[in-house]
Amino acid sequence: MNQPRDYYEVLGVTREATEAEIKKAYRKLALKYHPDRNPDDPEAEARFKEASEAYSVLSDADKRAMYDRFGHAGLRGAGVNPGFQDAEEIFSQFSDLFGDLFGFGGFPGGRGRSRGGRRVRRGADLSYELTIDFMTAVKGGDEKIEIPHHVRCEACGGTGAEAGTEPVTCPTCGGAGEVYQAQLFLRIRTTCPDCGGRGQVIRKPCGVCRGRGRVRATQEITVHIPAGVRSGLQLRLAGKGDEGDAGAPAGDLYVAIRVEPHEVFQREGDDIYVTVPMTYAQACLGATLTVPTIDGDEELEIPAGTPSGKVFTLRGRGVPRLDRRGGRGDQHVQVVVSVPKKMSEEEEALVRRLAEIQEARVAEKGGKRSFWDRLRK
Ligand SMILES: [Zn+2]
Ligand SMILES: [Zn+2]
Repeated sequence: MNQPRDYYEVLGVTREATEAEIKKAYRKLALKYHPDRNPDDPEAEARFKEASEAYSVLSDADKRAMYDRFGHAGLRGAGVNPGFQDAEEIFSQFSDLFGDLFGFGGFPGGRGRSRGGRRVRRGADLSYELTIDFMTAVKGGDEKIEIPHHVRCEACGGTGAEAGTEPVTCPTCGGAGEVYQAQLFLRIRTTCPDCGGRGQVIRKPCGVCRGRGRVRATQEITVHIPAGVRSGLQLRLAGKGDEGDAGAPAGDLYVAIRVEPHEVFQREGDDIYVTVPMTYAQACLGATLTVPTIDGDEELEIPAGTPSGKVFTLRGRGVPRLDRRGGRGDQHVQVVVSVPKKMSEEEEALVRRLAEIQEARVAEKGGKRSFWDRLRK
């Protein structure tokens, strides 16, 4: 029976090596001789098994102490069999060991490399609340907004690598962007913890963006407001969000619209409501009233005998519809008799004369007692 090599020699560390040094040494060897990287290479597999065996002993304080005192024979005598049949056994039995080593419980693997694509991160979506005035919402228009967001770093062209250098293939995943997570008998593919799925790592990070490939900047963006928007509507500006990883699309910008109220127009859906005053004489005799619309002032004919509160509808004079129906909503005009608070002498005389004709009881001129007082008499 062949005597195994000295474990410290296998890992290339001194007998005084710390836990961290042992871990680091094994990690390097495991990556180098990983069977996925060295398919059909029995020599590499043997080295992989040997290193794993050495690590399984030296990473365990009790076993290491026993090995230090009694060597390989000591372990055998204590019933410890650190050898492995094959790589699968290593994968399946040392999930915690690998998890510790590679983070996220991940184990580097190229198996299925052809199936797994490199993952690059798309830029983040951003949102912005934009308050616009009533007429802009109704008529549409362009609004300029300033948003702080991430843009491509000009210094490195978005690669994140110092000018003159290039990102290199990630040694942990061999560029696959994915590693295998070992959990007992299962091996689950997961994103490479070292390159975050990009498949590349940066040796010399760009000094301007610190390797991120993006910098924060405030950018002025013109938002085109379509005619007919209303509060609560969200506009999506594709690609106007944060810059993504090199080669990945930028995120989107979502602009939430808030519309300010108007002092004259009220809006309900795509319809507009206005109230227009008329005098008693206009209500009785009929008239042409001037009505504000979103297109400007309009003339509205009201017939003689129009009651106060009557609503006239101007078809198609409302807000442009955003939906497929197209066209515009309506404008509803409510005419209301307005009663003057103060009248001239002549006006009062005429109204009194009218009351006489209609035999309507009205308050005496300059009288202190009101109509209601007299009713209670
Ligand atoms: Zn990687
Ligand atoms: Zn940069």
